[in-house]
Amino acid sequence: MRELVEQLTSTGRLDNASLKALVTQCATDDGVLQLLRDNAVRTAREQFGRGIYIRGLIELSSYCRCDCLYCGLRRSNRLAERYRLTHDEVMECCKEGYRLGFRTFVLQGGEDGTHTDKWLTELVSTMRREYPDVAITLSLGERGEESFRRLYEAGANRYLLRHEAANAQLYESLHPAGRGLQHRLDCLEALKRIGYQTGMGMMIGVKGQTIDHIVEDLQLIARMQPEMVGIGPFLPHRATPLGNEPAGDLRLVLATVAIVRLMLPKALLPSTTALATLSPTGRLEGVLSGANVVMPNLSPSDIRAKYAIYENKASWGKEAAEGVAALDAELHTIGYHIDYARGDFNLK
Ligand code: SF4
Repeated sequence: MRELVEQLTSTGRLDNASLKALVTQCATDDGVLQLLRDNAVRTAREQFGRGIYIRGLIELSSYCRCDCLYCGLRRSNRLAERYRLTHDEVMECCKEGYRLGFRTFVLQGGEDGTHTDKWLTELVSTMRREYPDVAITLSLGERGEESFRRLYEAGANRYLLRHEAANAQLYESLHPAGRGLQHRLDCLEALKRIGYQTGMGMMIGVKGQTIDHIVEDLQLIARMQPEMVGIGPFLPHRATPLGNEPAGDLRLVLATVAIVRLMLPKALLPSTTALATLSPTGRLEGVLSGANVVMPNLSPSDIRAKYAIYENKASWGKEAAEGVAALDAELHTIGYHIDYARGDFNLK
């Protein structure tokens, strides 16, 4: 098994059978998991040193027309508290975030029908005009190629759109009312074509997912070469059809993050909020598996609890923008620090 880790480290690739064997072994073998993570950390340090980029997350809207089985914001959840930020509220978040040192803003939200191209392009243009040196990342679900293009031309730089499952059957089972896996992949291709730094990703441990599915995800990521990859554990939300399912396994998440780091040495990999929610040490464990980004919450404090994709989401303390000093102190305990640069994908 150690040879597989070394092969992955030196070539960035493994065939399906080898990947399956490695992921399976990591579920129970501390030595192999540690070797994998150590190699991933070394690879990340060669690219990024000991700096961890921060992104200020602004949760734009909890309205969503989709019905993803795992998500607390799904349209069928009548108990979800809905809100949407106004243009001015978003700009207030940016003002505070910029003051705190953030140089990437991430606008994330459900697929809210009121977020027309006009409204969003005005917002992005204003952000671009007032903060010319920041990166603007969008995470607003599937849109048409023309819409992606308008937002890019308005000043957006990056787009996060998790593919969620490379296996069509698993994808359909999680998104019964969705537009299908091919549509999701077409969106990702369009984003890359337009010039966005593009992010993919998936949850580990969602109902129906097997190790074979994770291998399919990893191979899709290796083929598509996204600039960003977000991987976190599945976390149940009780007001969803998956509310009684167990959370994803920490070891499998860490193994998957480490494998992606070795496949894509330059990729921007967040240590996700879901990981920090799953385990008190999750954020640091993510960094010690090759992650190099954290995304504290810049949303107004009174709405954070309402953006409940899953329950008990960490959005206070070190997960909150006002907690950057505490986050930096926490990173220092493992020899890392916050890097306040805007942290674009580096092609060189
Ligand atoms: S995962 Fe995203 S697209 Fe799906 S229901 Fe939740 S907010 Fe909407």
